[in-house]
Amino acid sequence: MKILTENFKEKLEAILLKEKEILIVGHYNPDGDCIGASLALYNLLKSQDFNVSVLMPSELPDFLKHLSSADDIIIFDETKHISKIKNADIIFYVDFNDESRTENTATYLKNTEAVKVILDHHPEPNENTDLIFSDTEMSSASEVVYHFIHLLGFEKYIDKDIAACIFTGIMTDTLNFSVNSSRPETFRIVADLLSYGIDKDEIYDKVNNNFSEKRLRLVGYSVYKKMKIYADINFACILISKEELEIFDFKPGDHEGIVNMPLSVSGINISLFAIEKDDFIKISLRSKGNFDVNRLSGKYFNGGGHKNAAGGKIYKSFNEAESYILNSVKKFFI
Ligand code: 5GP
Ligand code: MN
Repeated sequence: MKILTENFKEKLEAILLKEKEILIVGHYNPDGDCIGASLALYNLLKSQDFNVSVLMPSELPDFLKHLSSADDIIIFDETKHISKIKNADIIFYVDFNDESRTENTATYLKNTEAVKVILDHHPEPNENTDLIFSDTEMSSASEVVYHFIHLLGFEKYIDKDIAACIFTGIMTDTLNFSVNSSRPETFRIVADLLSYGIDKDEIYDKVNNNFSEKRLRLVGYSVYKKMKIYADINFACILISKEELEIFDFKPGDHEGIVNMPLSVSGINISLFAIEKDDFIKISLRSKGNFDVNRLSGKYFNGGGHKNAAGGKIYKSFNEAESYILNSVKKFFI
């Protein structure tokens, strides 16, 4: 793993003490990797009597609530949790590279004296962070956390629940081992995790087969009624309005997976899924090969992510969104 901090061992040993208050924070709209990695670290530190809490800027999807200690996760509320951030001595940033990814929580995180530690696999981690454990080669932040636990010499405390959290993060961020999982090391880690007795088929089932009926109907509607194919530029997009989301009782996590579906159409290399929010349009992007949607999103959609999976937002009305998106994709790729 690439470690972008000199003397990290001494620095960690000096701060990771039982009397310190530790806070683990994930990104807005936390996904399987963010929650899996955060809970793995949380469960491990808690088992060793560290004073640790875990906080997410927004609600987690139902299909991750079975993970060990998911009930302990604090969902950030400005009226209740500012002191939780202020009082922390160490804050772990899990599965994101910059405070801006925590949205409503960002200003409070920026204004603390705490030692900040990034555990991530996105490009360009914020260099002003005290300690950075980040590697874009890794499948997931969960894989980074696995290595981090070993760096601390805490691997002897990994148990079945912690192994399940790490496995969930790797499984979800690699889309069930279909992307970002070509390094043999990822599978060696998975083999090690299986040795703790986790039931991978059961974990797969809990994560992937746990949606509402309405969510599946939203998937069908998105593909049948809303998907537009622009074959000449190898692009597909699906835009869903607020009213349409209400029909399908849209909940956090319900969009997961839909954006990947147009890539199954021969010749489609870039896929975009967008939903209308109160003040902006939230965008998800996926691509194949060298089509870099991280850079596309950085340039036109106020976002970022990875080369083949990124997100962002645009501050346009729903009616203006489609032509802006189409023009942006054309300008960037043609
Ligand atoms: P998703 O489409 O699943 O929400 O996100 C895909 C990837 O893009 C993830 O790696 C996520 O961290 C990143 N991402 C999603 N939304 C944003 C955003 O608004 N800004 C940035 N910088 N990255 C994002
Ligand atoms: Mn991730």
